Amino acid sequence: METHKTGCIICGRELQYFQQKKTMRCEVCGVEFESAASCTDNHFVCDECHSRPGQAVITSMALRTPGRNPITIAEEMMKNSIINMHGPEHHYLVIAALLAAFKNSGGYVEMESALSLARQRSEKVPGGVCGFWGSCGAGIGTGIFMSIITGATPLSVKQWQLANKMTSLSLEAISENGGPRCCKRDTLLAILTAIDFVKEKISIEMDKPEIVKCSFHHNNPSCKKDSCVFF
Ligand SMILES: [Zn+2]
Ligand SMILES: [Zn+2]
Repeated sequence: METHKTGCIICGRELQYFQQKKTMRCEVCGVEFESAASCTDNHFVCDECHSRPGQAVITSMALRTPGRNPITIAEEMMKNSIINMHGPEHHYLVIAALLAAFKNSGGYVEMESALSLARQRSEKVPGGVCGFWGSCGAGIGTGIFMSIITGATPLSVKQWQLANKMTSLSLEAISENGGPRCCKRDTLLAILTAIDFVKEKISIEMDKPEIVKCSFHHNNPSCKKDSCVFF
């Protein structure tokens, strides 16, 4: 299926969000879901159909890259034409880019099983949670990353603290920059925050770029332009 990379993947129109969910049929898999988003022409695509094609690409890039800079790895993933401008696939992308750079920088992680955990957990974080839950999925992604590399569970003490602190620091950085949602900006902010926190707490130093410039704004009609730190 030929898909659009910005807005609605069926027709390219802007998405609209509702306070109350509605029952809608996914244009790709035909299954009915309750959802709070559709395009202005009423197309609805479920999170799984939105994310699944990108997941395989993200996984294979994370397994192959020798890179130590998670921003560069994330940018390469996002440049792949299968990754949409916005969408819940970014929740997995943040974790995968960080896991790869962490391992390549000397961190201990078994990549295949870590990526599998990352997929299982990030799939539970729906699109639009930034606005509806007050918890951007890219920020939650850094907490999932920290939980995976430290082996945190709800009963852990130190690991539990690190995972929750990681999410809170990312959300702080994301919130400081204000809305509207931009999966590129929030992915970059979350990863930059994780680089610093991992260096401080885990003593693994991933490469951090001096300057980050967004190359995706042409495809984002709601880009904040001059008021975005990466413009
Ligand atoms: Zn549409
Ligand atoms: Zn579907």
